[in-house]
Amino acid sequence: MRNLNVALIVILFVYVLTGCSNKSKLDDASEYDDKVATLMKKMTLREKIGQMNQYSSFMNATGPVSKDDYTKKKYDHLKEGLVGSMLNVRGVDQVLRFQKIAVEETRLGIPLIFGFDVIHGYRTQSPIPLAEAASWDLEAIKKSAQVAATEAAAAGINWTFAPMVDIARDARWGRIMEGAGEDTYLGSLIAKARIEGFQGDDLSATNTIAACAKHFAAYGFAEAGRDYNTVDIGASTLYNIVLPPFKSAVDVGVCTFMNSFNVLNGVPATGNAFLQRDILKGKWGFKGYVVSDWESIKEMLAHGFVQDKQTAAIAALQAGCDMDMEAQIYIDKLEDLVKAGKVDEALIDDAVKRILTLKYELGLFDNPYKYCDANREKELIGAKVHHNAVLDMAKKSIVLLKNENNLLPLKKKGLKIALIGDLADDKYSPLGSWRLASDDEEAVSVVEGLKVYDNTVKFAQGVRLMDEEPEFFKETKINLTDRSGIAKAKNIAKKSDVVLMVLGEPGFLTGEGRSRTSLNLPGLQEELLKEVYGVNKNIVLILMNGRPLTIPWAAENVPAILETWHLGSQSGNAIAQVLYGDYNPSGKLPISFPRSVGQVPIYYNHYSTGRPTSPGNDVVFWSHYIDESNKPLYPFGYGLSYTTFEYKDFKVTNTYDTDKKVNVTVTITNTGELKGKEVAQLYIRDLAGSVVRPVKELKGFEMIELNPGESKTISFLLTDKELGFYDNDYNYVVEPGEFNVWVGGSSDAKLMKSFKIK
Ligand code: BGC
Repeated sequence: MRNLNVALIVILFVYVLTGCSNKSKLDDASEYDDKVATLMKKMTLREKIGQMNQYSSFMNATGPVSKDDYTKKKYDHLKEGLVGSMLNVRGVDQVLRFQKIAVEETRLGIPLIFGFDVIHGYRTQSPIPLAEAASWDLEAIKKSAQVAATEAAAAGINWTFAPMVDIARDARWGRIMEGAGEDTYLGSLIAKARIEGFQGDDLSATNTIAACAKHFAAYGFAEAGRDYNTVDIGASTLYNIVLPPFKSAVDVGVCTFMNSFNVLNGVPATGNAFLQRDILKGKWGFKGYVVSDWESIKEMLAHGFVQDKQTAAIAALQAGCDMDMEAQIYIDKLEDLVKAGKVDEALIDDAVKRILTLKYELGLFDNPYKYCDANREKELIGAKVHHNAVLDMAKKSIVLLKNENNLLPLKKKGLKIALIGDLADDKYSPLGSWRLASDDEEAVSVVEGLKVYDNTVKFAQGVRLMDEEPEFFKETKINLTDRSGIAKAKNIAKKSDVVLMVLGEPGFLTGEGRSRTSLNLPGLQEELLKEVYGVNKNIVLILMNGRPLTIPWAAENVPAILETWHLGSQSGNAIAQVLYGDYNPSGKLPISFPRSVGQVPIYYNHYSTGRPTSPGNDVVFWSHYIDESNKPLYPFGYGLSYTTFEYKDFKVTNTYDTDKKVNVTVTITNTGELKGKEVAQLYIRDLAGSVVRPVKELKGFEMIELNPGESKTISFLLTDKELGFYDNDYNYVVEPGEFNVWVGGSSDAKLMKSFKIK
């Protein structure tokens, strides 16, 4: 309620803002302080600035490359010790080549740190991050990051630009595939799991790498879902939705941060001192370093925040950006600016100290070639155990959206199956976006995955999905005209018992720069679906995509729908095992699926309007659309199993007034005929707040596995950590008053009780 408990606010404020949980790993960096200081004394100003300079390899790039040929300049800088880090260098050979220059040809021999976008695997690809989030399985996600780290480290890399912890509510934004979805609670836990997986317990080991929480901040809130677009959000959304996963990253000891391309409320994130100095390095006490995004220091000119490169350098450095990715602004401008008294050298010293400390932590000064063992590279990259791990992750990431009349799982014998859709025979798309080091045709396709089973499978492409081979740098061209394969697909479907239709998005239709205004099945796929439905209604729609899609017709008509995302290297095997019931699907959506793109942004934890429900009698004056429901097609947290679960004996024991605890218990029974897993979820609503609270907020979940007929009682504990929120001045407050609490298998949970805290 509105009477704030001032003492409580003060305590919580201190607790939350001073880093209450795990200390940053770099807090313990004191053992390196002396070494760093000694080294820095030997460095010239220009060499120090060199440590803040990061270049992309000359052969691979992940952003726009200048028309000028900078190769010679980059080489010269490398030899002069004016490069601190490189990105997009991969493989022991390449890494060795550059590391040798840094160590053996420069005056001080300071090793380079090698960054790379290890987003969902290095060579062996895990499901895209959004898919992994659908598993709600934090251990599996951590394991997947460990596999990625092991392979990347074996390829000479010691720093990944992951995890992306941007919360996103707009499926038009192509990078939604790279995050954990729309929820800040789930997203914070996943951020922690991924960072723990990448960094492990010992950063200096040869199977761990430094992680990077990105993109700081609010990149996922680009207006209209258009990548790089303006972000304008209020304090409550920034503090309660956007920042918590980043705070969770700091608490678990993430080594680095990356700032972002966007303007946040009029100030580019790269030049944003409030975000980087006040919050990140100030209130949160982050001791690692911040790298810019690709040329984002330069992009502040295009934003209209600064008019020249000098001012861009000053703005970024003063705001707390320690390393310049690819823009060459720090290296070109900072030295003169210090000499002219326009930049305080202490800011440079602080940045360099942070960067060198991580190099010590990684053990690069002990052995700069420790990540460069060609035998280890050969042995570990693409190892069988890694494929087993990503297969496990892939199965856990699949979400069953619909299963009328138990069409799934399929019988293992005696079925005539039609397999239709270009994506069914695609070994490229399931790898998804951001899989720079994978082999292009490396994924197991659905055609291949189904071969393990005995049934007869006849395949037809139906319609060609793309007009050209996909490429990382280019827009994917979708076939909009060629319908020549539809007749054959119908013919096969007609003669089959069941039709598996694999439809969705090519791998490069999501990712950076891949925003869409439509969320429909691209191209002619929906037309194909309807045509096939006309001859055989027994369809299992297997969606393969990197973002929520609008599929209202399919949801209404097609009896079974499986969301399989872009599942990575083992895609086809995982899908086949789920289709045949060798794995009972357990995934839950980490993001709402809209009915229509016009509903976007759509998310479960929205505020209530003043007119949330219809006044009846067709009166129009309430918050709604005249042509579509307010509800999503599939809500956040939703996902079915081949068995069913019942929730009962829901109890709330409120002892908040004596020990600040509210205990919630519920008994879940497997009421179906198969063993299965359920992610039981708990949501709350604070009914009245000094800043209004969402209609529902996830505050706990637990995955349980039950045999048919088996029951288990689980409990959730609500404390100030779950019951409070940030007010508009970034104070963490717990306000007395009434709360609702729900438990169930999705954000649409209906079992509800109320309690009050004083
Ligand atoms: C992306 C970053 C990425 C960087 C380096 C940028 O375009 O926004 O997420 O880490 O490139 O590849």
